[in-house]
Amino acid sequence: MPAKSTTPLSAGVIRTDLPMADGRTIRYYDIGTVDRTAADQRPIEAQPGIGELRFDPLVNEWVAVASHRQGRVFLPPKELCPLCPTRGDLASEIPDSSYQVVVFDNRSPSFTEPSADWALTEHPDLFTPDIDAAGKCEVICYTDQHEGSFGELPLSQIRMVMEAWRDRTREISQLPYISYVFPFENRGEEVGVTLNHPHGQVYAYPFIPPRATKMMEAAVLHHAKTGRTLMEDVIAREVKDEVRIIAQNNHWIAFVPYAARYPFEIHVAPKAHFADLAEISDEVADAFPSIAKEVLLRLDGVFGESMAYIAAWHQAPVREGRDLMRVHWQITSVRRAPGKLKYLAGSESAMGAFIMDLEPEQSAAQMRAVQL
Ligand SMILES: [Zn+2]
Repeated sequence: MPAKSTTPLSAGVIRTDLPMADGRTIRYYDIGTVDRTAADQRPIEAQPGIGELRFDPLVNEWVAVASHRQGRVFLPPKELCPLCPTRGDLASEIPDSSYQVVVFDNRSPSFTEPSADWALTEHPDLFTPDIDAAGKCEVICYTDQHEGSFGELPLSQIRMVMEAWRDRTREISQLPYISYVFPFENRGEEVGVTLNHPHGQVYAYPFIPPRATKMMEAAVLHHAKTGRTLMEDVIAREVKDEVRIIAQNNHWIAFVPYAARYPFEIHVAPKAHFADLAEISDEVADAFPSIAKEVLLRLDGVFGESMAYIAAWHQAPVREGRDLMRVHWQITSVRRAPGKLKYLAGSESAMGAFIMDLEPEQSAAQMRAVQL
């Protein structure tokens, strides 16, 4: 079991790693002098086995099968929340009685560390046998307060979360079996949240996921045609059109994309080229909290109720396409009106062909009109 270790990061954040009872690791991210020593008092428990990856030859995509995830806790009441700090008798996932930001390995991971000789099958096809689902799944708790949301956090707290995302991207990218690191958040029961405590996740895949593969192909094609980076030109178009911009500062721009697929969809991108979160400069990281908070408050302000959303960090893959792919944050919401959701039905689910009944310019105007 690894012993306690501390690592200084940017923005005055110190990371302290401690072992958990079942061999997982918990990482505390703190500003200021905080001595993290609380031991995990829970009985030692075996970790679930590794899931499997099966290859779907019809679309050339890997599918992860993780049947051990069926027993997960589902929307527990606050007093049984596994993401609250441990106070009183119930030992949660976080042994300490308070925390700032923590990251720990998921208890029911879809992807886990494989054996040392693991390798992804090259050129898989119909006859490729299943392989171990190598990868990482981590949980990131944004605050030790059970109520609230990411957008409601103080700016300094959002900056700490950003530091944790950068740290996880940097460290996980070094694992030989990882091809892509994906920090994301599901917010709201409408998008399948099983715990209400403000938190997100980091998935790291042993392959480049389908959406990123498609985005990389588009970026390569655009570069071949024009010699330029696609995201740079996309941002230039948004700046020229102006009507879909929601917020911007010196380093970031937030807009509803020209061809948005969801009733409320926002892309938040750095103005300069950074392949991933590990690569962005401290100055750019410092400028993120204010724009992140603004777009999420505008989103919640549209109908005056908290919006269910998926917030996804698109990054360049770990080892390829880094000169052409740029990190950006995509927020998509299925809410189209109070009490009404957009369901991904036949065309979207079966064909991947999206049909939008709200003009992107109209949804941008609605978000811009929100009084903060
Ligand atoms: Zn909680």
